[in-house]
Amino acid sequence: MKQSFYDLNYPDLEAVISQNNLNPSVAAILFNWHYKKKESIQCRDNISKSSLAFFEQYFDFSLPEINLVHESSKDRTVKFLFKLKDNHKVETVLIPFNNKYSICLSSQVGCAMNCSFCFTGEQGLKRNLATSEIVGQFLQAWRWLASNRPGEERILNIVFMGQGEPLHNFDAVKKACEIFLSQRGTSIGVQKITISTAGYIPGLKRWSQETPGVNLALSLHSPFTEKRNELIPINKKYPLAEVLTYIDAIPLQKKQFITYEYILIKGFNDSPDDAKKLGALLAGKRAYINLIPFNPFPGSRYESPDLDEVENFKAVLDEFRIPTLIRGTKGDDVLAACGQLNSKN
Ligand code: SAH
Repeated sequence: MKQSFYDLNYPDLEAVISQNNLNPSVAAILFNWHYKKKESIQCRDNISKSSLAFFEQYFDFSLPEINLVHESSKDRTVKFLFKLKDNHKVETVLIPFNNKYSICLSSQVGCAMNCSFCFTGEQGLKRNLATSEIVGQFLQAWRWLASNRPGEERILNIVFMGQGEPLHNFDAVKKACEIFLSQRGTSIGVQKITISTAGYIPGLKRWSQETPGVNLALSLHSPFTEKRNELIPINKKYPLAEVLTYIDAIPLQKKQFITYEYILIKGFNDSPDDAKKLGALLAGKRAYINLIPFNPFPGSRYESPDLDEVENFKAVLDEFRIPTLIRGTKGDDVLAACGQLNSKN
């Protein structure tokens, strides 16, 4: 099988070119064509016939196939179902803000974390995604915007909050980030990429050495051990206190924060006591809290909180002077909101 072109970061591509004695300028031309112009057809200008023939012979330029597109009727959220070469499917969501978008990428087919509030977890882990399948979600969504909402093909933020645990597929996610960040590639700013983790310590251990400065989000969900164990079973193996020691050691740039995500579940973790304990845990840290009202899915065992409880919870956190955002639910009419992604069917 041919190797995917989209598995190569820029230094990889340069290495291929020099090993095969091709003209070094081909690297810049190919990256420009595929990642800046994002064209689907091969670039035939400025590139010799022999170089072109080489890449056509040894590299695959196809992208994950768009199997279904759901457009929300409430907002401009778009959910894509992608079909991969082995017929596995993953979902990707475009979340609108003004006339721009954030993209929520999947990192695995299914997920091994088995969190009790998450629809994806019910699928179990099928396999990791390759870098090309991660980058491919972005390129296909961009092209879809260019043809369906011309003028709006601006994807300014990338969040790894779709299916999968990104730190459990560290190498492929890291390389995808390198391509996104590359000035030769899509050239997305380092502050515009966020990787969200359930607290997978083997990945956190590699984070500070190897991840090129992108933002980190931790799915915290409860400061209490018992409750967090129920919500995020890997908390038994990788307890929150230990997770936080790794996160606290990550060097942050000026104005950079760690985002702590907190799902609010009615009658479970939405009381003022929960908020106080959370506030005490995070006070003094470079923290930003994202409160996410639980999004129900078919067969889910939890309920969404009342709006009053959400407001009260935030008011407690305000007393600790921790910046807190209540995340609105976008795209929930097409099951595109957080935790509603499940591509089994
Ligand atoms: N595995 C990573 C990334 C995927 S989840 C992680 O755990 O962070 C992305 C965010 O969606 C997480 O904060 C997750 O906890 C949240 N989420 C999952 N299911 C949800 C649901 N049913 N309602 C609201 N948020 C949910």
